[in-house]
Amino acid sequence: MELLTITDLRVTYGAVTAVRGVELGVASGEVTGVLGANGAGKTSLLMGIMHAVSRTGKLVLDGTDISSSDTRDIVRSGIALCPQDRRLFASMSIEDNLLLGAAQEKPRVARQRLAEVYERTPWLGQRSREPAGRLSGGQQQLVAISRALMSEPRLIMLDEPSSGLSPVAVHEVRELLEGVARSGLTVLLVEQNTSLVQHLCSSVYVLAEGRVVGHDTIANLVASDLLSDAYLG
Ligand code: ATP
Repeated sequence: MELLTITDLRVTYGAVTAVRGVELGVASGEVTGVLGANGAGKTSLLMGIMHAVSRTGKLVLDGTDISSSDTRDIVRSGIALCPQDRRLFASMSIEDNLLLGAAQEKPRVARQRLAEVYERTPWLGQRSREPAGRLSGGQQQLVAISRALMSEPRLIMLDEPSSGLSPVAVHEVRELLEGVARSGLTVLLVEQNTSLVQHLCSSVYVLAEGRVVGHDTIANLVASDLLSDAYLG
């Protein structure tokens, strides 16, 4: 079953068209991958889903048409985005950054979610008072993903979480996401590198020049020429 079904999504920035009629389904309880080279339209796809940019097309979330919902309502309907630039507040503590993810909730609920995040990633709790800006890039990525989890979303979308990270840090991101996937949460994972996608995703879409040019298992995509074609243009 699909939690999110996207039909004919188009995203434009003035005269520039970044997403050209994308059809994509995010399976409930699974990690769906989107792979694409630089500028393929991956961030625009996610911003389009959030309705944070000008777009047309149809989006259905769990049977409800959210095509004309604004960003705030889309967040309320249970979609959380972990953006590529992470957008943490460097001088604020880890804990205060995390609490922003549950800003709509009553303090008691927010505390409960914080406890769950700390259970998942214990060092976050141990270092909760430290400013987020003091952490390494990989640690900051774990905070950013955890902050998105604080809203207890139905769908979490991640924009290139491995970008700029060392192999060790990518491994830590992978472990966190494996736990998230095991808990049954639905994930849309957008990546330029295949490494995380290979470990986490059953179904993978390939995006090139704003279009879906392939949709298959990662094993089949790696075996085909599709990925190298999409990356080399
Ligand atoms: P990256 O891996 O570099 O993040 P991407 O796959 O996420 O790339 P997008 O950032 O969605 O790709 O960009 C898709 C296309 O839209 C590119 O041609 C880009 O130049 C263009 N684009 C993105 N944002 C804007 C904007 N604000 N105004 C105009 N054009 C934009």
